[in-house]
Amino acid sequence: MAVRVISQQIVFKPPGKCIYCGSPGDPNLHTEHIIPESLGARFEFLKASCHACSVKTGAVEGHVVSRLFGDTRAFLGMRRGKKRKWPEKFSVHVKPKTEADRSSSLTMTTRLEGYEKKEVELDYLPGAMIIFNLPPAGIFLGAPLSDEFRVASCDIAFAAGWRERLKRLGGHVLLGGLSALSQEQFGLFLAKIAHSYAVAYSQRREAGRSAGATDYQGRTVHQPQDRQGAQPNRAAVASWPCR
Ligand SMILES: [Zn+2]
Repeated sequence: MAVRVISQQIVFKPPGKCIYCGSPGDPNLHTEHIIPESLGARFEFLKASCHACSVKTGAVEGHVVSRLFGDTRAFLGMRRGKKRKWPEKFSVHVKPKTEADRSSSLTMTTRLEGYEKKEVELDYLPGAMIIFNLPPAGIFLGAPLSDEFRVASCDIAFAAGWRERLKRLGGHVLLGGLSALSQEQFGLFLAKIAHSYAVAYSQRREAGRSAGATDYQGRTVHQPQDRQGAQPNRAAVASWPCR
C-alpha cells in the first residue's frame, strides 16, 4: 500500500544567517526543510539554520512527527528522511484484553502499565494518524495575547482495513509509542514551520534549483512522482475531546 503525497518543490535562496538565532558565523548553515521532509514536503530554505538551532528544531520535529504519525508513514509507503529504509519489523505496544473486556472504542490514557512491546511486520501496524484540531486563532477574535497554546480536540484517521489489523494485534493498541507529546511541543512544531516559511516568503528571492522547481508564487508546478501508482486511502475518522 502507498499514498501519493502531493508536494511541489519550492527552493528559497540562502538568507545569509541562521533564521532562528541570527548567527551569521556558522560556515555550514543547514538547509531548512520548512515542513518536515518526513511528511513528504519539499519546501527547502537553503543554508538557513546553524548547527545548534537545527539540532533543537530537528529534535522537536522528530518527536512530534513520530508521535502523531508514527510508523503509519511506513504503513502508507511514505519516504523516510535522508533516504533511509524502513526496518522489516516495527515495535507496537499492545495491552491484552481480558475475556470480559469487549470495548473497542478509542480512549485517551496515561496509564501505560500492562502494555507489552510486540515486534510486528508492516502489515500489522495500526495505520492510524493522530490529528490535532486547533481552536480559532485568538488574534482574529480580539482575544488578549497569550503564550498559551491549546489544542481543542483530536481526531484519529485510520487507513482502510484498520479493524482487521487491530483485531490481529489482539488487544488495546497504543498509538504514538510510550513517550508523551505535549500541546506545547506541537505548538513549537507549528511555530517552526510558520517562522521559517514567513522568513523565506518575505525575502521574495526564490531560486529554482532543479528543472521541476517552482517559485513561491506557485508558478511552474512540479509534477510529483506517483509512488507505485496507488491511490490515497479513504480514512475513517473518530473524534474525542483532548484534555
Ligand atoms: Zn541558530
